[in-house]
Amino acid sequence: VLTFGGALICLVLLGLRAIDPLLLRESVAMLILATIFVMAGIRATALVLEEQETLSRTQAHAKILERQVEQQQAAVDALADGLDIAIFLCDARAVVQYANSTARRMFKFSDPTGRPVLAVTLAYDLERLVLQTVQTGLPQTAELPFAYPEERVGIAKAWLEPEGDGRIFLAIHEITDLRRLERVRQDFVANVSHELRTPLTVIRAMAETLKDEERPDEEMHDRYLGKIVDEVDRLSLIANDLLILSAAESNPVRKQACDVADMFRGVVDQLQPAAQEKGLQLLFQGADSCIAEANPAQLSQVAWNLVDNAVKYTFEGGVRVILECNDEAVQVQVQDTGIGIASEHLPRIFERFYRVDKARSRATGGTGLGLSIVKHIVEAHGGTVEVSSALNEGSTFSVTLPRGRARLLELSEA
Ligand code: ADP
Repeated sequence: VLTFGGALICLVLLGLRAIDPLLLRESVAMLILATIFVMAGIRATALVLEEQETLSRTQAHAKILERQVEQQQAAVDALADGLDIAIFLCDARAVVQYANSTARRMFKFSDPTGRPVLAVTLAYDLERLVLQTVQTGLPQTAELPFAYPEERVGIAKAWLEPEGDGRIFLAIHEITDLRRLERVRQDFVANVSHELRTPLTVIRAMAETLKDEERPDEEMHDRYLGKIVDEVDRLSLIANDLLILSAAESNPVRKQACDVADMFRGVVDQLQPAAQEKGLQLLFQGADSCIAEANPAQLSQVAWNLVDNAVKYTFEGGVRVILECNDEAVQVQVQDTGIGIASEHLPRIFERFYRVDKARSRATGGTGLGLSIVKHIVEAHGGTVEVSSALNEGSTFSVTLPRGRARLLELSEA
């Protein structure tokens, strides 16, 4: 604008002066000046246009880069959120700057940003781990217990952000289930050894007494031998149940269409003599037939363990097996009027070797594995088993199993 303005003024002055021939020299000078102004103006305009183009090109490039950074950030966030590991990014004072969704879920904290790690996790050891990393500059790892919001165990690792300004990455991998399984396995081994040692000790003691006795009387001889046979039978029962349990655990369920009603009715028939001997009424009620996709041998085992228990732990009244069959599932209830189970024992009776009354279970030939076998088999079939019981009033065990494709087979045959 300045350039063209200057050129215009020069031209006007030139026009005015051209009227006077004496001023011709100045007029020519003016003309040259005006031309210089015009040329400079054109050049300046070209430069400005060029600059504008470069600017808009740079802006477009910056936008692309910005979008790429945003995409990269979103990908990193999605990756961090998709991991089953809790991840925090903290500053050098252990204040959280970022937490992935697993971390927020794990500590039930919707937005931990800006809060100290200690306030978010209530774990002193975790904060110490972060501060140690800040002090030493070296990665730190530790297995830590967490009490909030529930009892957990995790492996925590803290390390410095590479080329960062002292920020710390903190990752927590939860291993609660792993540690629980390890404990169950250790308890199981300890329980098995104990269960085997008890009859073995009895057998050894009896056999040694018989051996040491120079002339054992016949009654003692028979009694001791009888006891030895009982204990050997007991060992066989335990070995048998352990084999059933381990087969159920290690092999995938081989299913076929089978009649669940037939199976439970069969078990009721087989246990009728035992029930009658105790003066108990043992009944089967419900659908005549209910086809489901299941493993027949395993399902018979479930039926046997539940009905046998009901008969074993009932001394008055009776046992009823009620079967209901609907389109999707089959539900069997084994109800008894027996000794019942006190509420404090209910959560544990499906554990291996758990018995409410060891002596009574032993006396009835129980191994303490029956219900854990039931639970394992039923759950491997995609079903559930529940118990409701009241002390001295009786118990009801309910098994629900999906009928699977057997139902479709039934429909297509109809
Ligand atoms: P067991 O071989 O001792 O019967 P189970 O695993 O079958 O072992 O059952 C575990 C414990 O649950 C039993 O020892 C018993 O105390 C209790 N229990 C199981 N079924 C019944 C029942 N129908 N009535 C009362 N108590 C039962």
